[in-house]
Amino acid sequence: MRDTEVFASVERELNRQRNNIELIASENFVSKEIMELAGSVLTNKYAEGYPGKRYYGGCQFVDEVETLAQERLKKLFGCEYANVQPHSGAQANTAVYFALLQPGDKVLGMSLNDGGHLTHGHPLNYSGKTYEFHAYGVDKETERIDYDEYKRLCEEIKPKLVVAGASAYARTIDFKFMAEVAHSVGAIFMVDMAHIAGLVAAGDHPSPFPYADIVTTTTHKTLRGPRGGVIMCKEKYAKDIDRAVFPGMQGGPLMHIIAAKAACFYEALQPEFKEYSHQIIKNAKALEESLKEEGFRLVTGGTDNHLLLIDVKSSCGITGKKAQRLLDEINITANKNAIPFDTEKPFKASGIRVGTPAMTTKGFKEDDFREVGKIIAYRLKNEETDEVKNECLARVKKLTDKVTMYDDIKY
Ligand code: PLP
Repeated sequence: MRDTEVFASVERELNRQRNNIELIASENFVSKEIMELAGSVLTNKYAEGYPGKRYYGGCQFVDEVETLAQERLKKLFGCEYANVQPHSGAQANTAVYFALLQPGDKVLGMSLNDGGHLTHGHPLNYSGKTYEFHAYGVDKETERIDYDEYKRLCEEIKPKLVVAGASAYARTIDFKFMAEVAHSVGAIFMVDMAHIAGLVAAGDHPSPFPYADIVTTTTHKTLRGPRGGVIMCKEKYAKDIDRAVFPGMQGGPLMHIIAAKAACFYEALQPEFKEYSHQIIKNAKALEESLKEEGFRLVTGGTDNHLLLIDVKSSCGITGKKAQRLLDEINITANKNAIPFDTEKPFKASGIRVGTPAMTTKGFKEDDFREVGKIIAYRLKNEETDEVKNECLARVKKLTDKVTMYDDIKY
């Protein structure tokens, strides 16, 4: 019996993905091979444990798959050890904390208000509830990471672990400096490179290796793989990390997703992936120029990577929440986002975060992103009239009609 209700919803989502300009900086479109593997028969297999050391029979073929994923990931980033089992980025980070820390231990991470992630010590998250998290942030003038304050806090707090990495930070992060300071106070240095992993793989952002002791990432953002997480580390942490993931936090690994991760790493090792990553950056620069021409204030003044934070409050006198809705109505998908030193509550926020990875995958180039900037301005800077809305919808359609994706998928 086919569940027509769910398939109908999935079809509507497929059409949304086909017809919208997707600017959520953490999203992407996977290849058909990755989708095929994520929906493969491997979903049927239990494989608690690790390759060669499973608690179930019949694991010889999933062992091959997990070993391929591990080896490719190590090659891609030049790391000593890889665990590919975490179900998500949050699970990966939590497993690292579980492996290395005791409840109450001191940790230093980037403030959520300034671009950090929930799992970097938010009071409502497991991390903030279990460990004594302290936060570094950005400088009020430059809105870039305040490395002097970071150093001062490291020396004052003497954390056991330092977490670098962010969810809404448009500038290159100096992992080398951060590692030197962390190590000078005896801390373990961890990088959560979830947002920029694809750029790192392509050489478009400095690698956290060899400076970091532990690196986590999601596989579904710029890396363009299935939804999931991984942990990479120096050999000396391997046993503790493995034990923290299984049996510490998870039961059976999602072998179908691990197969899709293996294919993602394979794709990221191909020369075409570098082209895609370079284009992400060129597109972000084009969008930056276009938005600046339209008079928008961008947090930090622009971008070095795949995302931009637009201060819509000071640029057009509206909240991020309203901007998100206005863009939604013209088939542009973005998310409201707090900006540093925001005076609005997080649910309203003063900014929106926009990123170029997903539409770069679909084939958008610089001119397309320049037009996206103009459409955003036209929508957000004008009265909420049907005329403006309809003109924007027509301009969005003109852009999305040029790029097709998932054409032969049918539900
Ligand atoms: N780390 C960072 C820096 C992120 O931006 C995110 C997600 O947005 C995560 C971790 C969590 O990943 P997931 O949503 O897969 O749990």
